[in-house]
Amino acid sequence: MIRELILRGEVAVIGLGRSGQAVSQLLRHAGARVYASDAADADAGTLTKLAGIGVDAKAKGHDLARIGAAAAVVVSPGVPPDAPPLVIAREHGVPIVSEIEVALAFLPAAKVIAVTGTNGKSTITAMIAHLLRSLGVDAIAAGNIGTPLSEIALKVNLPAWIALELSSFQLHDTPSIDPLVGVLSNLEPDHLDRYESLEAYYADKMLLFANATDGSVWVTNADDAEVERRSENVPGNHQRFSMRDVKADAGPSVTPGAWRLFGSEFITTADVPLLGAHNIANTLAAALSVAVADSAHRTPGARARIVEGIRSFKALPHRLEVIAEVDGVLWIDDSKATNVSSARVAIEAMTRPTVVLLGGKHKNEPYTALLGGLSAHASLVVAYGEAAPLIEADLAGYVPLVRLGSSFHDVIACARAAARPGGAVLLSPACSSYDMFTNYEMRGDAFRRLVTMR
Ligand code: ADP
Repeated sequence: MIRELILRGEVAVIGLGRSGQAVSQLLRHAGARVYASDAADADAGTLTKLAGIGVDAKAKGHDLARIGAAAAVVVSPGVPPDAPPLVIAREHGVPIVSEIEVALAFLPAAKVIAVTGTNGKSTITAMIAHLLRSLGVDAIAAGNIGTPLSEIALKVNLPAWIALELSSFQLHDTPSIDPLVGVLSNLEPDHLDRYESLEAYYADKMLLFANATDGSVWVTNADDAEVERRSENVPGNHQRFSMRDVKADAGPSVTPGAWRLFGSEFITTADVPLLGAHNIANTLAAALSVAVADSAHRTPGARARIVEGIRSFKALPHRLEVIAEVDGVLWIDDSKATNVSSARVAIEAMTRPTVVLLGGKHKNEPYTALLGGLSAHASLVVAYGEAAPLIEADLAGYVPLVRLGSSFHDVIACARAAARPGGAVLLSPACSSYDMFTNYEMRGDAFRRLVTMR
């Protein structure tokens, strides 16, 4: 579709971030006229670089009339649906597509394993790419995980396999998504600050299946009732992973602590070098996806290489990443836990008495879902940032809690004073970072700096 739209007129790219720049470049390569704009400022280097390849790039505002007259609008992942350029595009019937939709049109031969779900996407995506590389094939992780797919499409040597992480926002504008294998990790409330209802959020996630046929292959979570219910009537070959169901294609075996792939044992819990039961689920999802993607990945030799790949996989930054052990206290950065369900699994993964740092920008989810894990593992909850009063209202009286303001320095000092040798401090905020930081990476980096600085 995008190739035809390019011929009709100018393409407006909204957002001059990394993916906006890459897709502008890709569109220029394909001969499109490109106007790229951003509401915020952009550095002079970016504007000069884009101008040099013939992109009309403008920062600090959008020319809405020009966007309304475009042949297509390409939207970057961070742009909310009510942003004026998108409102104008909709009013004028201009097709809105994601950067991923454009890139896919230029990667017709790539074998894509697409991953979505509320939590675990990046871990599963990175592990799929790592396991494929362990099998000796040329694979790369891209999409929402950090490397825009358009950057991959611009490469001279295209990778044979792509593990593609997709957010619900990206799926919303990627109508031609049709992966070799599609993975749905789980469905939990999230992004209620951006979606008008949970149903609307889940509906976007389900767009993974938009082009399903009997020949499609899906990997889904048998332990998630919402996933099971919504995916059961989707056409295609369904492979399921589970932490509980011994009938699933990847799941527990009769030996406790051992896990099967297609009926035979292949790993034990000790083979998985990541914290928490949820990471066993992520590992099963990744291994199953790689195994079903190609019959060559199911030979005994390939299975052994998949196991080696699992053993050598490293935790991604800011996802239950152990930063340091200081005076007997383990400091763990889970800054990526930006919703309640992800913080819940992180808290439940703790094996030491833990000071839990909760706070940031509230996302309209109640914190009471954390109470079970906190009662079992938290020696103290430090509630901070914009959401602190709401966290306090939900949890105070049930678990020891102190409420602080918006100084991250004070939060860390409080945690340092409260933690005891043999204990842990866990930053798993259950909120987005935008009240105090540019993004979750900067929040995690600040945590590391303050912890290691002393
Ligand atoms: P995503 O890309 O979907 O945000 P990540 O792999 O980056 O997922 O993990 C983000 C956080 O979500 C982790 O730090 C962890 O707290 C939590 N998490 C990871 N995997 C799962 C899972 N399978 N179920 C629930 N929570 C998870």
